[in-house]
Amino acid sequence: MASLPEAVAHAQLEWDTPLYRMAVAQFDHAVAHAAIPEDIAERLRYPERSIIVSVPVRMDAGKRVVFPGYRVQHSSILGPTKGGIRYDLEVTLGECAALAMWMTWKCALLRLPYGGAKGGVRCDPRTLSLGEVERLTRRFTSELLPFIGPQQDIPAPDMATNEQTMAWMMDTYSMQRGYAVPEIVTGKPISIGGSVFRHEATGAGVVMVVARACDRLGWPLAEQRCVVQGFGNVGGIAALELFERGATVVAVSDVSGGIHAAIGLDIHALQAYVRVHGSLEGCDAGRRITNDELLGLECDILVLAAREDQITAENAPNVRARMIAEGANGPTSLEADAILSQRGILVLPDILTNAGGVTVSYFEWVQDLGRLFWTRDEIRAKLAEKLSDAFDRVWEHADGRDVSLRTAALVAGIHEVSAALEARGIFP
Ligand code: NAD
Repeated sequence: MASLPEAVAHAQLEWDTPLYRMAVAQFDHAVAHAAIPEDIAERLRYPERSIIVSVPVRMDAGKRVVFPGYRVQHSSILGPTKGGIRYDLEVTLGECAALAMWMTWKCALLRLPYGGAKGGVRCDPRTLSLGEVERLTRRFTSELLPFIGPQQDIPAPDMATNEQTMAWMMDTYSMQRGYAVPEIVTGKPISIGGSVFRHEATGAGVVMVVARACDRLGWPLAEQRCVVQGFGNVGGIAALELFERGATVVAVSDVSGGIHAAIGLDIHALQAYVRVHGSLEGCDAGRRITNDELLGLECDILVLAAREDQITAENAPNVRARMIAEGANGPTSLEADAILSQRGILVLPDILTNAGGVTVSYFEWVQDLGRLFWTRDEIRAKLAEKLSDAFDRVWEHADGRDVSLRTAALVAGIHEVSAALEARGIFP
């Protein structure tokens, strides 16, 4: 397959943004090690479908505001597309396209029968009331009705969305069908077909991957000093799991800044504080620090669980961790990756490290389709098995070929998708 004709290639594609270019550059780097046919690689550089909608919402004050909404479906080769919905001021089509592509490699790496998707609404969720968020979610879901479905595209929570958001999406979709369709979303409340352990899955999965890496390196997890950036669903649970496994969590942060205590923080107490106050703002459990300071703290393990683009060429030289675990998607820029690798800092890549969420989402979907539910222990054990299997494949590949864990993880995911696309052929 030839690349886009020159005139088309020179016009900027709608999703072509720095984050999307970073996803494609990572893909191209991995493809050089993956030995897949160029026409297959070229197909996979583009999202299959990119949707832009506008979402009118009646605000509490009476007037209507129209918000831009997006959904990008990168690849449906292995099954329905799957990915989170975020409410954030920085949501763009390009951000969704990059995140959707990473989801494809992540699902394939974990051998889940899904492709990648991502979506969201550009808004400031902190300024919206609960009623406004509900109306925004229901209208956004209605706009996406022709494009989502249990066998087509299955949303899940992401930044600033949660179980309640998924319940509204599930209800809006079900009302249009005329019967309950729990399998349309994952990450919903247990009372409507959600899975036990889904809420904790991403953060707990981060720590399962960190523990596996520590085993390989001969570092006892309970002796590690950890720093966690982001104290939401992923970072909050990861910090708690580390704390409960005996590691010392010396600092955590959220958008309001960080807290540092060299002797270790009581994560249960911080969780309780955030439940009452909504964030770490004003918390005096330790010394207040900025997020920049937090990223430069001396520690063994730095968990990045806030958002993309946090370690860059500017601050990578200041990182004083021995290992970085990417709980967030795309938190390390390409330039930073090279600097960290030169400095001998091991990076556990996002598509492996935060895959616990989509894996338990897959378990949730399977349980919903079968109307048969598993116990927490069964799910935790199945998750540990899936993550260990993926981790071992990635570690062995990286070890044998002297490539980074990120490249090895991408190559593993790309191979799965490429083999399926070759077998099916590029339609027509
Ligand atoms: P969340 O909204 O629950 O939490 C995000 C946290 O990061 C909040 O504490 C917020 O205050 C903090 N934060 C935001 N900007 C920050 C900054 N500049 N510095 C420090 N802290 C900052 O979101 P989440 O679900 O925990 O998602 C976090 C990341 O993990 C995102 O990249 C998301 O795509 C990724 N992720 C989430 C899941 C999931 O299951 N929730 C699964 C895979 C990946």
